[in-house]
Amino acid sequence: MPKIGNSKTYSDYPCDRCGSKRRVSRTWTEKILNDNGFMLLEHTQTICTNKDCQDKFEKVLSEETEKREKIRLERANNALRKTNIKISP
Ligand SMILES: [Zn+2]
Repeated sequence: MPKIGNSKTYSDYPCDRCGSKRRVSRTWTEKILNDNGFMLLEHTQTICTNKDCQDKFEKVLSEETEKREKIRLERANNALRKTNIKISP
């Protein structure tokens, strides 16, 4: 099975926020179906070894996720409202 993705480990690169070393916190593979069959895509999640930096990053990340979720819910509500208008006589 052919493998795509970066073979270099991400932990070799320093943190782009503070320059500290990073370490791999999670790796997982994803099967993707394309014209040639299944491809195995490798994902690597790295975290900064600097706790303060990582904490800050996670805070920003959760705020972003929250914001996105809010927008998603608003859109869903709007879509629902539009559907209701269409349904009602
Ligand atoms: Zn960092």
